[in-house]
Amino acid sequence: MVSRQLLRSCQATADALPLREPYSSAQLVDDLAAARGRPIHITPLTWLDGPSLPCGVWIATGDTDYVFIAKGATGVHREQIVLHEIGHIVCGHGSAGSSELLEQLMPNINPATIHKVLSRSSYSQPQEREAELVATLALARMSRLATMTRPTDQSGLGAALGRLDRALGADG
Ligand SMILES: [Zn+2]
Repeated sequence: MVSRQLLRSCQATADALPLREPYSSAQLVDDLAAARGRPIHITPLTWLDGPSLPCGVWIATGDTDYVFIAKGATGVHREQIVLHEIGHIVCGHGSAGSSELLEQLMPNINPATIHKVLSRSSYSQPQEREAELVATLALARMSRLATMTRPTDQSGLGAALGRLDRALGADG
């Protein structure tokens, strides 16, 4: 369920994102990094493809933001994951981990460690909802703007917008 207040604040957040052609999460990541003065690295990782793991993780170090996404994700699904993590960043939810955590993880990543780390650092349900709504609204905005160059994966976009419709419809 999505309250009107949450929808309004998420819409404002999505509207404030610096979108320009070509409308993609990659372009947005570049522009957002420049605006924030902090590089954002998007890295696909195979170990994020596990069924009980989140599709993306944001880890902030002193001067850089790292966003890890499931390697198997493609098309609109991949865009949605990146935008979801961007949602956590612009909503100021705090990253899933520190540079110490990153150092711990990077040399020798194994699923058991990841499960332990992620279960310790998960976001609250309202934060997850907020990030997901910002991602969906940003995706919808990109799709509206890109009338000439629409994403090829329309079914994925349709599914995302369908979820949004249902979420909004559930609000009394
Ligand atoms: Zn999340």
